[in-house]
Amino acid sequence: ESKRNGKNQFTIYEKGMEQVSADQLVIENDLRRALEKNEFVLHYQPQFNTLNQQLYGVEALIRWQHPRLGLVAPGQFMAVAEESSIILPIGEWVVREACRQGKTWHDKGMIVTMSVNLSPKQFQSPCLVELLSEILEETQFDPNYLVLEITEAVAMNHIEKTIDTLTQIRSLGVQISIDDFGTGHSSLAYLAKLPIDALKIPREFVNELGVETNKAIVHTIITLASNLKLGLVAEGVETTSQKNLLQTMGCYKMQGYLLGKPATVEELENEWAVCGPRGQVP
Ligand code: C2E
Ligand code: MG
Ligand code: MG
Ligand code: MG
Repeated sequence: ESKRNGKNQFTIYEKGMEQVSADQLVIENDLRRALEKNEFVLHYQPQFNTLNQQLYGVEALIRWQHPRLGLVAPGQFMAVAEESSIILPIGEWVVREACRQGKTWHDKGMIVTMSVNLSPKQFQSPCLVELLSEILEETQFDPNYLVLEITEAVAMNHIEKTIDTLTQIRSLGVQISIDDFGTGHSSLAYLAKLPIDALKIPREFVNELGVETNKAIVHTIITLASNLKLGLVAEGVETTSQKNLLQTMGCYKMQGYLLGKPATVEELENEWAVCGPRGQVP
């Protein structure tokens, strides 16, 4: 039975909470059971290319369809999952489900890239490359359309090992993107050596593009991506002026509430009907 905390109905699983380590087993059990009961679900946020008006990709984002709490956001449980080994089967489920859905969509003519977030433990798992190749084989999803998002902190850790893992992943045909680029501590010299495909501009900078320092940072990321011949996706685009400013600055690929919130499979299919290859960016 899940823990109750008196005030609210449920203990929110937050990293850093005092009782987390004591309750680690309870939480791990809850998550394990959720996995067995198939309570996790992926929502998909559309990604648009404003240059050719196409919905070209989606980012898979996990949610927990909790029997009593309803839809629980990843911020409420992924940090704790990451502290235990339960993150590995959850992460594996995410990759498999995303590839399965991507294949289903490709078969329907809905050709989109599928971006999947990898947790640090997942990235460091010695089985990762083998697992990826198994899942790609099993689901028959075209690896060229799979994009794995890792954080800057993960990418900048254990340099030689990271380069080796990234090289192996890319040899499967899979692309690599650095999530929330610029919020961590990157070594620029090292970034240039990383076998990666794209940088994602974090919502924190996009949200306050009106602030000159943020504008300068975004400009720097755009220039950096261009010089290193990397792709670029801006996250958290919420207003038309942010969208226009990003375009003026040379960033054309974007996702955000202005263009589309994370959506269910059905909602995304409806969106495709409107914003597919010959559609219009909202
Ligand atoms: P992220 O990968 O940077 O994903 C972007 C987050 O920003 C998502 O939150 C998305 O819903 C939200 N977002 C997108 N556009 C906007 C916008 O215009 N405004 C605002 N305010 N928010 C926007 P979400 O789904 O709650 O996910 C939060 C984080 O949880 C993700 O950040 C990612 O780090 C992690 N996460 C989500 N799904 C997974 C997963 O399957 N595996 C792993 N390892 N981590 C995941
Ligand atoms: Mg992401
Ligand atoms: Mg991000
Ligand atoms: Mg993030």
